[in-house]
Amino acid sequence: MRTDYDAIVVGARCAGSPVAMLLARRGYRVLVVDRATFPSDTVSTHLIHAPGVAALRSWGLLDEVVATGCPPIERYSLDFGPFTIAGRSQPVDGVTTAYAPRRTVLDKILVDAAVRAGAEVREGFTVEKVVVEDGAVVGIRGHGEGGGSVTERAKVVIGADGRNSHVAKAVRPEQYHGKPMLQWSYYTYWSGLPVDGMEVVIRPDRGWGAFPTNDGLTLLVLGWPYAEAAAYKADTEANYLKTLELAPAFAERVRAATRVERFTGGSVANFFRKPFGPGWALVGDAGYNKDPITAQGISDAFHDAERCASALDQVFAGGRPFAEAMAEYQRDRDVHALPIYEFTTQMARLEPPPPEMQQLLGAVHGNADAMDAFVSVLAGSLSPVDFFAPEHIGRIMAGAVAA
Ligand SMILES: Cc1cc2nc3c(=O)[nH]c(=O)nc-3n(C[C@H](O)[C@H](O)[C@H](O)COP(=O)(O)OP(=O)(O)OC[C@H]3O[C@@H](n4cnc5c(N)ncnc54)[C@H](O)[C@@H]3O)c2cc1C
Repeated sequence: MRTDYDAIVVGARCAGSPVAMLLARRGYRVLVVDRATFPSDTVSTHLIHAPGVAALRSWGLLDEVVATGCPPIERYSLDFGPFTIAGRSQPVDGVTTAYAPRRTVLDKILVDAAVRAGAEVREGFTVEKVVVEDGAVVGIRGHGEGGGSVTERAKVVIGADGRNSHVAKAVRPEQYHGKPMLQWSYYTYWSGLPVDGMEVVIRPDRGWGAFPTNDGLTLLVLGWPYAEAAAYKADTEANYLKTLELAPAFAERVRAATRVERFTGGSVANFFRKPFGPGWALVGDAGYNKDPITAQGISDAFHDAERCASALDQVFAGGRPFAEAMAEYQRDRDVHALPIYEFTTQMARLEPPPPEMQQLLGAVHGNADAMDAFVSVLAGSLSPVDFFAPEHIGRIMAGAVAA
């Protein structure tokens, strides 16, 4: 009986199950382990913008998400107080729609897709140790629920085990572009709170977003600067509700709704990690983590899965050197991620926009194309590099002057 795998994936959620599925679909022997058993919830507001939805569609999984009754989100609106910017995401492979499926729903669909593709999935399996021989990772040691420890070996161990990655702790990769925690948010679910797509409200030092999810519920997440986290935590419910009064009409709608779950919240640090080394790779939050304010994490995890699976395919089937293929994976990830990372970490400070930005936003407001473009930055379908390019800004400002 063969006991060795081409790849062992630690973590079976947004990064792990897709990378396992994509490798298994190419015919590789893949083992995926997760200490969770699915369906399983996790701390996440689970909005998936058009780029992530396009990935789900290309994998043949979007219909399953839609079939759960999760409503489509076509419109994003950002209420800055004096004005609201509203628009639609630019298409990504023809997709302009976002969805916010519960993680109990999404992650189960992903795990099942990995199984259907031929990956071996062990739920309720905790990795205790990354096995290293002669300076290279060669496997994992771990145990199932109530079972004894076993060792499994593979050509590569992929850490898809989240921002506190056990695999990353074992291999201690270079970490770069680090920033501290920037905002503290709490979210919960409401019934009787209809929303028009995704509604975002931005006020000085405060911000919130609401969007529809499964079971007719609306998720409402509300952030304070990290420096005020202790004060926010001191009376979560009162602070959450009081903050909504900064937009009285919105607060009125929430007063008419019913909270159906407890508050969940927290904060995360911001960093990139080198995502490969001898015998190991990192995907998803394990390799690149950022504040959730722009909701990029799930789409990023999907893209990591695609890039990593394609790099490993080049190594396994094409004989391309591992370090070369994986360096390209890292480069592509970072080139794509860095501009939106800077935008995200700036936004997560919840500081009022500087005067030039206020002027620009004033010019964007009311210009349908510019509003779609701004919304697309948030959706991850237009790079901030393109939006903030001098020619693009020039066109927006000229439009404002002409108007
Ligand atoms: C408050 C908050 C809100 C967010 N909102 C959004 C949003 O709206 N949209 C969005 O796109 N992203 C959002 N994110 C980010 C998003 O949740 C993550 O980017 C995404 O979950 C990353 O997926 P992952 O597979 O890399 O890791 P995870 O989802 O963290 O999964 C890691 C898995 O690894 C398993 N694991 C860990 N250690 C071990 C071990 N030793 N042995 C076995 N298994 C192990 C865990 O059980 C877990 O199932 C949010 C994050 C937070 C914190």
